[in-house]
Amino acid sequence: MKVLSDSQKNLLMESIRDVPDFPKPGILFKDITTLLNNPQAYSLLMEHLASRYDSYELDYIAGIESRGFIFGAALAAKLGIGFVPVRKKGKLPSATIAEKYALEYGFDEVEIHIDAFNGKKGAKVLLIDDLIATGGTAAAAAKLIKDAEAECVEACFIINLKFLDGEAKLNELAPCYSVLEVV
Ligand code: AMP
Repeated sequence: MKVLSDSQKNLLMESIRDVPDFPKPGILFKDITTLLNNPQAYSLLMEHLASRYDSYELDYIAGIESRGFIFGAALAAKLGIGFVPVRKKGKLPSATIAEKYALEYGFDEVEIHIDAFNGKKGAKVLLIDDLIATGGTAAAAAKLIKDAEAECVEACFIINLKFLDGEAKLNELAPCYSVLEVV
């Protein structure tokens, strides 16, 4: 189903556990492990994503470490296309390109393999992660896709923390789709 009904969205939202004060005081952590171990919710979500992206003629899915791997790899297998991991600095074994992004305090860095898209210029890539908050991580990942001469056709999130307006940071790089929104 390309479009989810309100009751299907509710089922997904209710399958995600809120954990207060994790990983630090004041953060309400959206825990998707309770969605993953709920077969009805997980398969509904994956069927929805597969039907949405079936017509996009994607070449690859790029998933952001680590929860983006779970959804991205499963979706890539469903669509019969390749999966590319976007990892934190120092984790990928071969030659990489890197992008720094600002955190509340300091910087972080994400990387992809330089040959991640097999040299296919203009490869159509869907970027995926579990959640968009400030948008810094996803914007850095979208820049990496561009630096690798591929095209980020959309960035997809299971949850968008709308009140942080991460989408604004991403929109100049790629359109954004979120299955669920927290306003
Ligand atoms: P940001 O770069 O601020 O958009 O943060 C997005 C990344 O941090 C994603 O990989 C999320 O998994 C994680 N993240 C940020 N805030 C939360 C939250 N409240 N609950 C769960 N994950 C979060």
